[in-house]
Amino acid sequence: LSDRLSGVFDKLTKQGALSDDDVKTALREVRVALLEADVSLSVARDFVAAVQEKATGQAVTKSITPGQQVVKIVHDELERVLTGDTDPGALKIDNPPAPILMVGLQGSGKTTTTAKLAKRLKEREGKRVLMASLDTNRPAAMEQLAILGVQIGVDTLPIVKGETPVQIAKRAKTAASLGGYDVYMLDTAGRLHIDAELIAQAAAVRDIANPRETLLVVDGLTGQDAVNVAQEFDDKIGVTGVVLTRMDGDGRGGAALSMRAITGKPIRFVGLGEKMDAIETFEPSRIAGRILGMGDIVALVEKAQQTIEAEQAEKMMKRFQKGRFNMNDLKMQLDQMLKMGGMEGMMGMLPGMGKMSKQMDAAGMDDGILRRQIALINSMTKQERANPDLMAASRKKRIAKGAGLEVSELNKLVKQHRQMADMMKKMGKGGMLKQAMKQMM
Ligand code: GDP
Ligand code: MG
Repeated sequence: LSDRLSGVFDKLTKQGALSDDDVKTALREVRVALLEADVSLSVARDFVAAVQEKATGQAVTKSITPGQQVVKIVHDELERVLTGDTDPGALKIDNPPAPILMVGLQGSGKTTTTAKLAKRLKEREGKRVLMASLDTNRPAAMEQLAILGVQIGVDTLPIVKGETPVQIAKRAKTAASLGGYDVYMLDTAGRLHIDAELIAQAAAVRDIANPRETLLVVDGLTGQDAVNVAQEFDDKIGVTGVVLTRMDGDGRGGAALSMRAITGKPIRFVGLGEKMDAIETFEPSRIAGRILGMGDIVALVEKAQQTIEAEQAEKMMKRFQKGRFNMNDLKMQLDQMLKMGGMEGMMGMLPGMGKMSKQMDAAGMDDGILRRQIALINSMTKQERANPDLMAASRKKRIAKGAGLEVSELNKLVKQHRQMADMMKKMGKGGMLKQAMKQMM
């Protein structure tokens, strides 16, 4: 019965597990691709080594070559590394007036980005924003921000000749409080190269404003240099995020990976042109695709994986309709649930699952439980998974021990499995199962 399904998996892995050689060969190309995208040498080397370890032994999807599979694994890993743990677009601007400090080298796009973000905050979040230019080096720079302010309908701090950046920062702070602004943005001066004076100035301004966000603006085309700059700014000033500009150009954006790997700072926004709307929140998958430059292959593998998943789901559904639902099936469901954002995310998507969702809530089920249940199933023998009725007390003890859990947890799992099997059978008769599975795909 169920061996039919697990048989499919066995064949898959036996047919095409990635060998050491497969991975090495493919990674050689990947390494070149990363370097071409301006990823720094050391970061590319470390990244490739980490993937080498992860990829070896992984299954190759049917109809996909080992090389293609490795590219997909690399892509997913790139995406994982690039993903920060905060929402890139959510600027911390509670407690008005919230200061945002913009730092970076001259010409990186600070002034432009300041105005772009101000416009975004105004239009998307309805915030009242005040912008101030602290660029006392170039008088035209202050005018530039004032002109952009008029263009986007955002106030700028009036220009007073002869002030120092610290004086301007103080005035901006007061004006923002008195004027009832939600946010004030400080656009600092840059230099062509990072130097002690530039850093000292930025630090003095930081100490006055105590910014909620310090965004480092970096030219996405500069590659390796960008990383050194980021490291230096973060060490001395402390940045909360990076904005990569000029990503509308030909550059493949390797700086994003280097920056993330070396500084650990999240990339928050991406500048995509000179216009005031040309800014987007950072999307790891998009940049990962661009850095790797092998989008076709990634799409191909995804398609093949989806096809296989759909085939498996179809097979599973046929069996469920006949009332056959074993522990392998349950495990697959639990894995799927984790993949789809845990209990909440998944149950919300299934019609007719409201009742089960409530039952699970009542049983205090959360993602930790999902993981423990998967561990329990992993601890069962093939026969036990295929035929849960086999599980006598002695077997239960062994299984629970293998998973490092109590027998009572296993009993709960067995009970839940039985309830689900019954429900599947009922749903199968009413055609509801088919509907539910379609939604899941
Ligand atoms: P700052 O010296 O750091 O303040 O840099 P600016 O904001 O003055 O920008 C320098 C130049 O880069 C200007 O001509 C901007 O229009 C341009 N720029 C800024 N961001 C982008 C971007 O994302 N894409 C492109 N193509 N140009 C940009
Ligand atoms: Mg400027």
